[in-house]
Amino acid sequence: MLAPDTFRDRCVLITGGGTGLGLATAHEFGRLGAKLVLASRSAEHLEPAVKQLEDKGYEAISIVTDVRRPKAVERMVARAIERFGRVHTLINNAAGNFLCPSEELSAGGWKVVIDIALNGVFYCSREVGRHMIDQGGGQIVNVVAAYAWTGGPGTVHSAAAKAGVVAMTRTLGVEWASHGIRVNAVSPGPFHSDGAASRLWPSEEQAEEIRRAVPTQRFGNTEEIAQAITYLASPYADYINGEVLVLDGGAHLGRGLSV
Ligand code: NAP
Repeated sequence: MLAPDTFRDRCVLITGGGTGLGLATAHEFGRLGAKLVLASRSAEHLEPAVKQLEDKGYEAISIVTDVRRPKAVERMVARAIERFGRVHTLINNAAGNFLCPSEELSAGGWKVVIDIALNGVFYCSREVGRHMIDQGGGQIVNVVAAYAWTGGPGTVHSAAAKAGVVAMTRTLGVEWASHGIRVNAVSPGPFHSDGAASRLWPSEEQAEEIRRAVPTQRFGNTEEIAQAITYLASPYADYINGEVLVLDGGAHLGRGLSV
């Protein structure tokens, strides 16, 4: 477990920080001393999240931002710097996803997911990256999914976006290493969030089918994934760069063949 002051006086910006994994990650960084910036489209998600964090004594602000819009991303980063002086760590967690057979997916449905989960990650990385280059370093942790390399039937848009983010993680990890910036990713297996449950396993039967496909026979939880994110952003991971850490109970390995 990381020391409670691991991120003391460090500012961590989390996209999609008002719900699910983003919010759990904000709690974990807060526990470790960080100042928090939560960004997403909806003040209804962000405001109660900031209140929860403040009630625990953590310093947090929210900035309503649509990561699909480069100008909005620019404003988000400027506002975070204005408030906390610097952004030390960026967590690219925001995403959108829905199940749809590929042959029925409209151009609009394809574009919206790619815009959030691939283009948005680039806009945020580029904007925070410019600032980190000026400041002499930082850490970026992206949230991907194993279907980036296993394929994800019914989620071709998201699988393609996450595969792009894996390539971005490795590319920026190498390109920006000389600036003291490390770029890594976590790849969680299925974990419960209201957003994922409603869109990806709306019925108990579907949830059970997914659970049975995981060798460890359980869903992940947001706390254990948040701990992996904070580890990758911490000084304990200073020599880890361009890596994707998979936390999925072995699900991406499939059931294995004995012949
Ligand atoms: P979630 O709670 O629905 O999180 C998605 C977040 O993204 C929301 O806070 C949403 O907030 C934000 N968002 C969506 N569109 C946005 C936009 N255009 N601009 C800014 N923010 C936007 O779902 P989650 O399950 O915690 O997912 C978190 C991450 O884990 C995602 O990257 C997802 O792909 C990944 N993941 C999840 C699972 C799983 O089983 N749950 C598995 C593997 C990977 P607003 O609505 O307020 O914008």
